[in-house]
Amino acid sequence: MHTANATPAAISATAAREVLAEVFGYPAFRGQQQAIVERLIDGGDALVLMPTGGGKSLCYQIPAIVRHRAGRGVAVVVSPLIALMQDQVGALDEVGVEAAFLNSTLTPQQAASVEQGLLSGRLTMLYAAPERLLTPRFLAMLESLHARGQLSLFAIDEAHCVSQWGHDFREEYLGLSALHERFPDVPRIALTATADDHTRADIVERLQLQDARLFISSFDRPNIRYTIVERDNARTQLLRFLRDEHEGDAGVVYCGSRKKVEETAAWLQDEGIPALPYHAGLDAGVRKRHQDRFLREEGLVMVATIAFGMGIDKPDVRFVAHLDLPKNIEGYYQETGRGGRDGAPADAWMTYGLADVVNQRRMIDESPATEDFKRVQRGKLDALLALAEAHDCRRVRLLAYFGEDSQPCGNCDNCLHPPVTWDSTDAARKALSCIYRFAQHGREHHGARSFGVAYLIDVLRGKSTDKVTQHGHASLSTFGIGADLSEPQWRAVLRQLVALGHVVAQGEYGTLALTDTARTVLRGDVTLHMRTPSESPRRSRVRSRGAAAGAGDAPAPRGSRTAPADLDVSQTASFEALRLWRAAVAREHNLPAYVVFHDATLAEMARRRPKSLAELGQITGVGSKKLDAYGSALLDVLAKAADPGGVVRQDV
Ligand code: ADP
Ligand code: ZN
Repeated sequence: MHTANATPAAISATAAREVLAEVFGYPAFRGQQQAIVERLIDGGDALVLMPTGGGKSLCYQIPAIVRHRAGRGVAVVVSPLIALMQDQVGALDEVGVEAAFLNSTLTPQQAASVEQGLLSGRLTMLYAAPERLLTPRFLAMLESLHARGQLSLFAIDEAHCVSQWGHDFREEYLGLSALHERFPDVPRIALTATADDHTRADIVERLQLQDARLFISSFDRPNIRYTIVERDNARTQLLRFLRDEHEGDAGVVYCGSRKKVEETAAWLQDEGIPALPYHAGLDAGVRKRHQDRFLREEGLVMVATIAFGMGIDKPDVRFVAHLDLPKNIEGYYQETGRGGRDGAPADAWMTYGLADVVNQRRMIDESPATEDFKRVQRGKLDALLALAEAHDCRRVRLLAYFGEDSQPCGNCDNCLHPPVTWDSTDAARKALSCIYRFAQHGREHHGARSFGVAYLIDVLRGKSTDKVTQHGHASLSTFGIGADLSEPQWRAVLRQLVALGHVVAQGEYGTLALTDTARTVLRGDVTLHMRTPSESPRRSRVRSRGAAAGAGDAPAPRGSRTAPADLDVSQTASFEALRLWRAAVAREHNLPAYVVFHDATLAEMARRRPKSLAELGQITGVGSKKLDAYGSALLDVLAKAADPGGVVRQDV
């Protein structure tokens, strides 16, 4: 029988902290983790909204462990991501927690052995796909556990899958309300990184979580540095970004189309950067192989469409680059949120240009959706474009979009290098009048047509091309009125006008036309400001937010490709030695390296150079099982790295 109030809150709190330190080796809870964990341990329900990388897994893993130790049986974790269950279970095994998964990848014998573990009470946690969970056979097993008081909790991960409003609705999730109906006294926790109100209301209703306490975390990811650069040559810009700042790092490059994914991956390979393509058009086997390699090998660049990424919880992704504009801020934030889950510095980097604005607007206009739907899409695109055009803190804008107030962050491009701007109102008016004249001239000459960006710029700059002469546009009053600005400057002005919705580019040739709001600019009711195009400053490798504000452009140590920038030469050598050791262990255990230890943990070892098991146990990320299993090997590696010639010198 489940007795919700028998455990005084203080006992739960102590038990939770003990498990955090002893099993996971972490000194403190993050954000709301502690309150969530205690709520579950005490038998309550919870709905958790936390950004990607916020630390959702511990919110159910710790209550599961505490309750299992208190004799309350097994926790059942529902997850849609079959591919990742194996790594989750592997990671729990590394820290000494008995867990298993049940999904379609198991042979009947394997499944039978998991079921036996489940019924015997050996397991602390069982991961299951929803379709598996809801079979009569499985529900009967749960009934039998429940009758013996051996069902400790249900965790429903990626809970937004239950909502048709969310971006990945899954039919099977609807059936999960059965859990509450059959086992009303078993505590449940539902978790998601999707923030909007509509989806949240759906989750509460469909999973019957009316009694759940709601935990909403800040959506800030302070270790991610946001940068949006104006595109001049996307490939050159990307290559410079990868070579200067992320050599040897793992990261994702998002592209808007499958074709561009293939081309970009091939080109990066030619440039000597280890890159793999991923998109929904590739064979399932190839996709799986590429995903596995990305998770298990170090320093691979995944070039992908948005088909890649859902549930990828590789913690050491050091950058997420966008070569094309995403559809909205939700998508952008989710994709960039895949960087830096380990809390170490990561980059979110995007190139952005006129073509993006035109394409995204056109895709909405030409889609077969209803006018209502298109209006919503346009509003979302406008918010993203405002972010891209912004001269002030990107993070303040991102968080404001999710309903959070904040102060300038000191860790985005605009905070770090406040852009120099110029008053572009006058230029904008020249461009708008020129578009207006085209239309007027066309009407007067019975050939109403308008013209694209390149042509407009020729006329503004006073170039007498054949086409200009042919259309008689050299006689327009606007011919040559913009000779003072370069072609890239004009493109930027046009981009701003399209982004702000004063100009639309229509049809196959991107024919320009004014909108109603153009009048406000022509009349001088609004002023516009634009970033002065400049050579983008050469930047240091990303640093933590605190360091970034003061450290400016200190050069990165070049010797190591992925060591944190604050390690000195000998610490870097220790870090590299630890990484080599880790790679060997990971291979032996058939796990991704980060499951053995995170980079941040290895860096702390290299920095603090523990000399005893007790000192080693103090390091964040070293729990008691890992200390037992690896402690003396690690002390060995550290001692050798610190004093490679030690043995020889003693002999001299
Ligand atoms: P989410 O599922 O919310 O995206 P995870 O549960 O994968 O995030 O956690 C992200 C990373 O943060 C993981 O590597 C995890 O080990 C680490 N982490 C979570 N909580 C803590 C904590 N209290 N202290 C240190 N590291 C933590
Ligand atoms: Zn900022």
